[in-house]
Amino acid sequence: MFGDLYNLLYVYYGNLEWWPSETDDETVIGTILTQNTSWKNVEKALKKMKENHVYTLDEIATTDQERLKELIKSSGFYNQKSRYLLTVSKEITEKYGNLPGMKNKDMKEIEGFIMGLDGVGNETMESIMLYALDYPVFVVDAYTLRFFKRFYGKEFSRKEIRNYAEEEFSEIDQLKNFHGMIVNLGKDFCKKTPVCKSCFLRNDCLYGKH
Ligand code: SF4
Repeated sequence: MFGDLYNLLYVYYGNLEWWPSETDDETVIGTILTQNTSWKNVEKALKKMKENHVYTLDEIATTDQERLKELIKSSGFYNQKSRYLLTVSKEITEKYGNLPGMKNKDMKEIEGFIMGLDGVGNETMESIMLYALDYPVFVVDAYTLRFFKRFYGKEFSRKEIRNYAEEEFSEIDQLKNFHGMIVNLGKDFCKKTPVCKSCFLRNDCLYGKH
C-alpha cells in the first residue's frame, strides 16, 4: 500500500536517521516536550536540561518539579509538561528500571503501560515505542493524516494507517524513516497551506495534480 510512496519520498529525502536525538532517554523527553510546540523550542529546553545534568529518566525522577519547570520553560505548557516528565520518568524507572528494561518484551504489555502514563496519547506512545524502544510501531501524527488525505484523496483512520504501514514495512528503520520523511515533507511542502508548485510529489499526488 505505502511501498511506492516510500520510494518516492526516499529518492528526495534518503535516510534521515530520524528521530533527532542522541539517546533513548532524550527521545522520550523530546516526545513529551514537543507536544503543542515547535522543535526549536524543544531544543532550547533539551540544551538547558543537558547543561544542568537533568537529562536522563533517572535524573528527572529525582528532580524537584519547580526546578524542572525552570529548565523546560522554553517548551511552553511547563506546569503540565514538568508533571508529565516526572510521572513518566518515575513510573518507568520504578517498574522497569530503565528503557533497556522495556525492550524485547511483549509489545502489547509495553504499549498498554505507556498509554496508561499521564500525558501520553497515541502519537507520544507510538513515538516512544518506535524511536526509544525499537518496537515495530508506526507513528501517525497530524502531518501524516493531512498528507495522506491529500496524496491518496481519501481519509484514512489512524488505525488503518498503522495497520497498513506495520504490515508493509518489516524493518524498524523503514518505519522510522517513513515517518521522518513525512514530517519533513509536512514542514517543507505539505504545510497547512500546501506549496504544491515546488513539491517533488506534485505529479503523483491527487491533490497536487489538480
Ligand atoms: S503536491 Fe501538494 S498536496 Fe501533494 S504532497 Fe506535495 S504539497 Fe502536499
